[in-house]
Amino acid sequence: MSDSQQHIQVVDNPSQREVVEQYLNQVPADSEISAARIAELQAQIKAQLIAKNAVIIAHYYTDPLIQSLAEETGGTVSDSLEMARFGNNHSAQTLVVAGVKFMGETAKILTPDKRVLMPTLEATCSLDVGCPADEFAAFCDQHPDRTVVVYANTSAAVKARADWVVTSSIALDVLDYLDSQGEKILWAPDKYLGAYVQKNTGADMLIWDGSCIVHEEFKAKGILDLKKVYPDAAVLVHPESPESVVDIADWVGSTSQLIAAAAKLPQQQMIVATDQGIFYKMQQAVPDKELLIAPTGGNGATCRSCANCPWMGMNDLENLLACLEQGSNEVSVDQTIGEQAMVSLGRMMNFKSA
Ligand code: SF4
Repeated sequence: MSDSQQHIQVVDNPSQREVVEQYLNQVPADSEISAARIAELQAQIKAQLIAKNAVIIAHYYTDPLIQSLAEETGGTVSDSLEMARFGNNHSAQTLVVAGVKFMGETAKILTPDKRVLMPTLEATCSLDVGCPADEFAAFCDQHPDRTVVVYANTSAAVKARADWVVTSSIALDVLDYLDSQGEKILWAPDKYLGAYVQKNTGADMLIWDGSCIVHEEFKAKGILDLKKVYPDAAVLVHPESPESVVDIADWVGSTSQLIAAAAKLPQQQMIVATDQGIFYKMQQAVPDKELLIAPTGGNGATCRSCANCPWMGMNDLENLLACLEQGSNEVSVDQTIGEQAMVSLGRMMNFKSA
């Protein structure tokens, strides 16, 4: 065992998986709408955005129909860090966040004077669900000597308990910095991203046992089998994937970093291990390249979450229009929690200029 491995300890918390399964079973099946209805909804949403001085902030994993509408109307399609920055800097008084709950909460914490709406408030994330604030606070209390770093995919209350928030795009840089300062880390909630960061920084990390139900299902064997068919393809992997998948990657990175890598790498085919929603923007970046979905399967694969986040999929044009028309699904964050969470979020937002 190497020195760095001696410092990693994953906290086993099997009950979290059951909680996640309960949420997953509530997610409705996809429904299809006609091209005429799509055009009608798009026109109505555009009119509402103008009337309500609103802008759409969409994540890469949402429906391409939402992503294209965000682009057409002056909004953004981006990762969670850039979503936060965009909402913070944009002049619109209403932010429509198409993504999952923690993204809406983050927008509200950063811009408490703006109205933040979401197409649905039911869209959560297995990492958020698997890290309840009270259990997490108790865990932190047991380790007062550690600096608490949490992934952006957490509730406002968990962020309020943390010293730092990070996204996957800056996790390595922040942990490198904290390690250089001699800090010992308590990391939550993604155990795979935590292990990846620990391996690459050598930081002393105690890691919560959470995972993303989408990335957890990518299988190294399936990717290697696909490589036999496409031997020249590059393998692009999000670090929320298991270590065995990360180990066979040509490139590991956040969503934005994977899109940039697709353009930068010379290969003409890309096997992509992250949510399929990313293909909309990735194909824009590499129109002449072939994008292949990394296989999922094996024990634990439900195929309700195979390369397709069920919670991101709850956002659609119908509920996006409804929230604008009715001013419904407004995100609220307790003021005290919001102010506390602003400390850890502020460190993340200011990190590049630190
Ligand atoms: S893809 Fe995974 S990490 Fe992202 S929102 Fe869905 S469950 Fe959470």
